[in-house]
Amino acid sequence: MFGEPVETGSIKMTGAASARVEAAAKPAAAAATNGDTASKPTAAKSDTTSKPACDRDAFRVIVDVGHTAGKPGATSARGAYEYEFNLKLATLIDHKLRDAGFAKTVLLITKDTPYYAGLFKRAERASALSADLFLSIHHDSVPDSFLQKWEYQGVQRSYSDRFKGHSIFISRDNGDYRSSLMFAKLLGQQLKDRGMKYTPHYTEKFMGHRKRILVDADVGVYRYDQLIVLRNNRTPAVLLEAGSIINRDEELLMASPEWRGVIGAAAVAAVENYCAERSSATRSVERPATRSADRRTTGSGRRR
Ligand SMILES: [Zn+2]
Repeated sequence: MFGEPVETGSIKMTGAASARVEAAAKPAAAAATNGDTASKPTAAKSDTTSKPACDRDAFRVIVDVGHTAGKPGATSARGAYEYEFNLKLATLIDHKLRDAGFAKTVLLITKDTPYYAGLFKRAERASALSADLFLSIHHDSVPDSFLQKWEYQGVQRSYSDRFKGHSIFISRDNGDYRSSLMFAKLLGQQLKDRGMKYTPHYTEKFMGHRKRILVDADVGVYRYDQLIVLRNNRTPAVLLEAGSIINRDEELLMASPEWRGVIGAAAVAAVENYCAERSSATRSVERPATRSADRRTTGSGRRR
């Protein structure tokens, strides 16, 4: 479960911290703009097709491993930590992207820091690395009120078989919402094409403050505007909850290399499609990024 600890509320960056983000972000914004002007109006790189080709050598994806070794996120129905699931799946996606020619891919493993500082750091890294896309990998759980007890290998554990399936989140406050949405839809489509069903339960009243707006009901894209790694990110950013590890059956599925392979293949196909399509799409980096930067600098202090 990522919902609870990532809610930011009044968490703001200090002036110094956001200045650091600003400084780091400039080359990224410049690079993105250059990329646009280089490829969009002319499409000159390709004489035979109308769509600009994807330059895989130049395209950088950051695959973010959700949580840290010391603060490993949710606990599965069998007592395993979410971080281990995240690390395995993110590592596989990183390998597959490199195999597919995306040589600049970065696997982002965040060291143990105070929790919120770590979240800001992820977004900072994305800017500093001039990334084109930020994909955060998580595995889901449920609110505590849904938990039931069972015994596994002589130890009493918590589980809930009530929900299963993946979900995809984007933030309206991301520096490039339109591109975030574009990639989120492509990822959702690839998962759907492989027979995976997203979980619809985030729209339900009983989710309380965890209730989300379903932006795309066909492929399961939700809005989660407050998520720091998405919101404080100038890079188009998407968070994937790959499945529910508090669900006893789905935990086994998520632990299997075969299933990881399926999700990994979907992620790589989505990146390929995104890389190919983004040149022909209108990107709106500057204005929303400036707005959210302004909002950040109004913060009066950092809680952690
Ligand atoms: Zn998580």
